[in-house]
Amino acid sequence: MGDASEAREPASDRSLLCAGERVLLLDAKERRYLLTLRIDASFHTHAGILEHNDLIGTPEGSTVLGSTGRRFVVVRPTLADAVLKMPRGAQVIYPKDLAAILMEADIFPGVRVLEAGVGSGALSMALLRAGADVVGYELREDFADRASKNVSDLVGEGSSYRIEIRDIYEGIDERGLDRVVLDLPEPWRVVPHAAVALRSGGIICAYLPTINQTHQLRQALEASAFGMARTLEVLHRTWHIEDRSVRPDHRMVGHTGFITTARLLMPLVTEDGNS
Ligand code: SAH
Repeated sequence: MGDASEAREPASDRSLLCAGERVLLLDAKERRYLLTLRIDASFHTHAGILEHNDLIGTPEGSTVLGSTGRRFVVVRPTLADAVLKMPRGAQVIYPKDLAAILMEADIFPGVRVLEAGVGSGALSMALLRAGADVVGYELREDFADRASKNVSDLVGEGSSYRIEIRDIYEGIDERGLDRVVLDLPEPWRVVPHAAVALRSGGIICAYLPTINQTHQLRQALEASAFGMARTLEVLHRTWHIEDRSVRPDHRMVGHTGFITTARLLMPLVTEDGNS
């Protein structure tokens, strides 16, 4: 064990909740509520009323009492909580797949990413939180507006994020990109554009719901300058752990999507200059 100087400080200043912040409340039945703290506002649930002023200034992780004596635990939402609770137009990518995409597409601070389509912005949030500079192409203006709002609610203004209303099948203007990350129905139509827009060694990553689409993408990649292609899916099984009952949960999400990546390779140049 460490000495006293290493003692854990349970509620540091970083724990204290401020007005304007988003918080997640859990009631005794583990129902979840996401809200933004506002001075003098009240939060009404069928389990009672909570005054926001009673939450502002308390450390996250606290248990607070509602008007009817019901208890609520208050914490800041994780990115996964925010994604599952945020307003959506398009279907979002689920947290288990967002996590895998960050690793498969090798997202790091400062990486230059072109993302399409932007949808509700769940993938944008994950990319930005990992430090990427993101340009998004999105066909629908209403989705782009929703995504911008979701992103600024979560990561704040001033992140490196820009959305353009346009069709990525018609081409990509950016050059020297590190990554092209796709969540749209026909990513094979983007392969020729990505081969020009990415720098050599860059990664294309596509998320697709069916294996037929995935197969078509893999064929397009096979016939292109991309190599090192791979496809995977993430099976995510939670466990029930209570007293002597320790077993997998009965239900799991059977299928979400397939993640495919490939890298842009340089042609082999022989001594006589031919490839
Ligand atoms: N990854 C997003 C969801 C994307 S849904 C998220 O996590 O929230 C797919 C999106 O692709 C939709 O918003 C659709 O409008 C957009 N889209 C489809 N075809 C497109 C194209 N050719 N160019 C740009 N966006 C496109």
